[in-house]
Amino acid sequence: MITNEYVKRVFEDFCKINTGKPEYIQACQEILESLELAVEKNPSIEKNHLLERFLEPERFVHFRVAWLDDNNEIHVNRGYRVQYNSAIGPYKGGIRFHPSVNESIIKFLGLEQCLKNSLTTLPMGGAKGGSDFDPKGKSDNEIMRFCQAFMTELYRHIGPNTDVPAGDIGVGGREVGYMFGQYKRIRDEFTGVLTGKGLSFGGSLVRKEATGYGLCYFTDKALDVLKHDSFTGKTVVISGSGNVAIYALEKAIQLGGKVVTMSDSNGWIYDSNGVNIEVVKQIKEVERGRIKEYINRVPGAKYYETKPGAPKVWSVPCDIALPCATQNELDLNDAVELVKNKVTIVCEGANMPTTLEAAHYLIDNGVIYGPGKAANAGGVATSGLEMSQNSYRLSWTFEDVDLKLKNIMENIFDNIHSTNKKYELKENDLLTGANIAGFDKIASAMLAQGLF
Ligand code: NDP
Repeated sequence: MITNEYVKRVFEDFCKINTGKPEYIQACQEILESLELAVEKNPSIEKNHLLERFLEPERFVHFRVAWLDDNNEIHVNRGYRVQYNSAIGPYKGGIRFHPSVNESIIKFLGLEQCLKNSLTTLPMGGAKGGSDFDPKGKSDNEIMRFCQAFMTELYRHIGPNTDVPAGDIGVGGREVGYMFGQYKRIRDEFTGVLTGKGLSFGGSLVRKEATGYGLCYFTDKALDVLKHDSFTGKTVVISGSGNVAIYALEKAIQLGGKVVTMSDSNGWIYDSNGVNIEVVKQIKEVERGRIKEYINRVPGAKYYETKPGAPKVWSVPCDIALPCATQNELDLNDAVELVKNKVTIVCEGANMPTTLEAAHYLIDNGVIYGPGKAANAGGVATSGLEMSQNSYRLSWTFEDVDLKLKNIMENIFDNIHSTNKKYELKENDLLTGANIAGFDKIASAMLAQGLF
């Protein structure tokens, strides 16, 4: 609950101008609740209207994307880009293709991205983009034509020193490749304007693995410092079966954990022997199939369809829970079940997968809660490393990048942990510390650069 008069006023004004944007309001509320403490300790935030200036994006564009399917039928989708804040570096944030994409989702993701990028310590401002295009069931050629049409408008707003997009839900290496090719054709320049590129044209080793690996490095570090414990011998529940989930699975296994679930929007699998990473990669990365297929290949595994009121992955007893699918996939009922089953830590691979009330419940019940803006920052951090390699025009080895990623994730944890100590916060509440530490850097850069 917000009690500070200034913060309350800012939130009320934000709600007034953003009616009908529930995810955006949710993200704003979560951030403002955390920043109350900073506002009380630092009067210059109110004096300089830094909350209002931070919450209002620098620029927001939406545009028409018209494209032809394989039957020469015309389709029209809507494209978006929010360039949220450039105080600490060029705008940076992924592109999402999913039918649920709208202004609220793009703006909440952009707002979160600012704090996340700040936490990485790399010089990157915050942005996000996407379209309500649904890539499911589309042919390779249709995906290519859509990506080309999308970039035919987006190119005028981005650039290697202005705004550097990357992937997100529905946008992986294939889509980034098509968009990069179109940008290069239009601009006639080969630059690191997108990250997550293929290895043969400027991509970085470990970018594909980075979000999932980074999530596990962060989780392991939190377990180590706060519980003197690790992944070894722990039961892990993961949701999703996309890029983030697959590489969280891989790293959790490497660190000695046993992962027992994976999911997609249709349902989830349970494998008491530990999910087989090779089978998952074959189904999801090679065949682009559904997770249900897992039970046809691994004897003893079970499948549960997603239905209203039916049990979710969070009903499975575990020590470590890693939500890696989408926003608001873990609600208060799920948090109650996780606590009942004695979960130790919940760290978010996805962006805002936990509702605000569920996050409060976990923290109040002593669960270590690692918010996405900290725990999943490994993806954008490695994108930052890709930008550096592109500027140098060289490539670092897998081991080099992986080590840098691990160090960044551990530093993010340390930064939050010391912020928590400074503000006398609960040790398991990594949310408040993350918001304060992320905002602090952006606010001082904004002040130093004069009014904008
Ligand atoms: P992918 O598209 O590779 O995978 C998304 C996964 O989540 C799929 O299994 C998908 O299932 C599932 N999913 C998506 N929407 C829903 C929904 N409405 N209900 C249930 N399941 C759903 O995306 P990523 O793995 O890249 O992204 C996952 C999350 O991680 C997102 O929140 C993203 O913003 C966040 N993230 C990603 C980063 C990256 O580097 N890729 C970096 C930081 C955060 P289905 O196939 O059925 O749609």
